[in-house]
Amino acid sequence: MELKPNQVRLMMLRVADAIIEAEPMLSQADRDLGDGDHGLGMKRGMEAVKAQLEPMEPSSVEQVFVTTGTAMMTSMGGASGALFGTVFRAGGKALAGRATFDSEGLALLLEAALEGVMKRGGAKPGDKTMIDALAPAAAKARESNALPLTDALKAVSEAAESGKEASKNMIAQFGRAKTLGKACLGFPDAGACSVVVMLKTMSGSVVNGL
Ligand code: ADP
Ligand code: MG
Repeated sequence: MELKPNQVRLMMLRVADAIIEAEPMLSQADRDLGDGDHGLGMKRGMEAVKAQLEPMEPSSVEQVFVTTGTAMMTSMGGASGALFGTVFRAGGKALAGRATFDSEGLALLLEAALEGVMKRGGAKPGDKTMIDALAPAAAKARESNALPLTDALKAVSEAAESGKEASKNMIAQFGRAKTLGKACLGFPDAGACSVVVMLKTMSGSVVNGL
């Protein structure tokens, strides 16, 4: 199974709605560890994404993801706007020239997203950031690139979920949670929670049809 550019657009509109709906959970996650603004920042970003994608007639898969990233980057501001913007801009650019989105495209997207975020923000796996969901997701996507897209997305979203759960046992090295030391144990990273919502929604929307 492969998605055409317009199906990728519809999938990303579902992702935007899911993040907007998850705002209270994401706000609470960031309140437990940071300043509590993550949910509202992501919501603002996804409203900007919807404004761009709703009228779009995409000519490529790359365009849908890069537009998503640019909308997040320019509307959210701050470090996380730049970092989540990079997820989709760097990820999208890795799909240049690919006519459809398939399991290999998913691996390319997540690998480039991970590399871009690590380069931009300087964090690495284990630092209790979104990278702790993205890195296992990217590794699972590479391993699953010969599976049908529905199966690959399911495996990838489960890997991200496990990574988010593992982030509960990490001591933050970045962002405001860094000052908490051991007090951040037991709580998952907010950005990792967002990554899980996005990948689970991508998975669910492909299973249920676009
Ligand atoms: P802010 O940190 O400005 O309050 P948000 O609350 O919106 O921004 O986002 C916080 C999330 O950003 C964290 O939960 C973490 O996942 C992610 N994050 C912060 N710094 C980094 C970094 N250097 N690399 C990767 N992700 C990061
Ligand atoms: Mg915050």
